[in-house]
Amino acid sequence: MPAKVVKNFNVPTEQTNKSPQNLHPKKASFLDKLAQLRKAQENQALQRVQADKKYFTGKQRAKAIGYSVASKLIELNSPLKKSYINTLYCNSKIEKHDDTATSEYCKNRVCPICSRIRTAKLINSYVPIFKTWENLSFVTLTIPNVPGDELKNSIEKMDRVFKQIVDVLRKQKKPLKGTRKLEVTYNPKKTNYHPHFHLITEGFRDDLIKYWKDYLPEIDLQAQNIKQAREGSEKELFKYFSKVIFEGEFFPAALDTILQAVKGKRVFRSYGFKLSENQKEAEKIEKLQSQELTELRYLHKTDGAYYWQNDFRTWINWNDEMLHPYIPHKKTEKLISKINAAKKGSPGTDMQKKRPV
Ligand SMILES: [Zn+2]
Repeated sequence: MPAKVVKNFNVPTEQTNKSPQNLHPKKASFLDKLAQLRKAQENQALQRVQADKKYFTGKQRAKAIGYSVASKLIELNSPLKKSYINTLYCNSKIEKHDDTATSEYCKNRVCPICSRIRTAKLINSYVPIFKTWENLSFVTLTIPNVPGDELKNSIEKMDRVFKQIVDVLRKQKKPLKGTRKLEVTYNPKKTNYHPHFHLITEGFRDDLIKYWKDYLPEIDLQAQNIKQAREGSEKELFKYFSKVIFEGEFFPAALDTILQAVKGKRVFRSYGFKLSENQKEAEKIEKLQSQELTELRYLHKTDGAYYWQNDFRTWINWNDEMLHPYIPHKKTEKLISKINAAKKGSPGTDMQKKRPV
């Protein structure tokens, strides 16, 4: 009967009977709070799970790329071979204990795992400072491309010239406020190298380009650049891992030449402002210690050591238990196969060695 059906709508169900509205106000508000708390805890747990997954996925991607890059660099028998071996083994073992995981870091510039940590630290240190500046610019200063055997000297010359410019600007009471990064790319067609500075500065500092040309008349003015910094400029500046793919290919010998030329040199320099001690820490490669993870609750894995199995792109313990399964994105696998396909020597560096000095 329709009337009954309508009436049924008003009959409180078992559930609504228990709803806080039907209870004493104090008890009801307590239950409400409890429900809210539980919901908050669930959300927090979910966020932790997502953060853990994101953390591991990023680390696994970096580990897989770093493994291939290091394997190729080791084949070269470079003076940096020992450091490349360290990169090959960076994070190859993860020790899980309760909610923490510990692993060893190689701290090398070429290592994608260490680079992503360093980039994150740098962004966290500098971005709050950049936010207090007005009218930020992104400046690029370059010199004409150089062969591999001139790369180190050219970088040192760029450094000297830049120092002179900073002094001149200070004397003119127009001190530079900014952060400078050294970057080197490789041109496989011309088999030469392109060292350049990227800067984030306060104000529109086109005077940097003017003086750069005064001190280095050989430079091409068209190749210098200044533009307003935009969202993401800081990421561009602090991207630590040098590019490994040039014109669609990986050239281990060229990368080795770059790494040898920048060895021991500071990639970042700041002018006109000081970082706090804490912020300075982020810049130092050697300060990168074995890191501890505290949020591993969702993994529910057996305690103990897990070893990187490159074929599976994950860490596995002696009982074949995976720490975190991961299927790389097609783009990542493509990048890795490009790295693996690289030949031992790259045309540029071989030719440069034979080049008369
Ligand atoms: Zn590393």
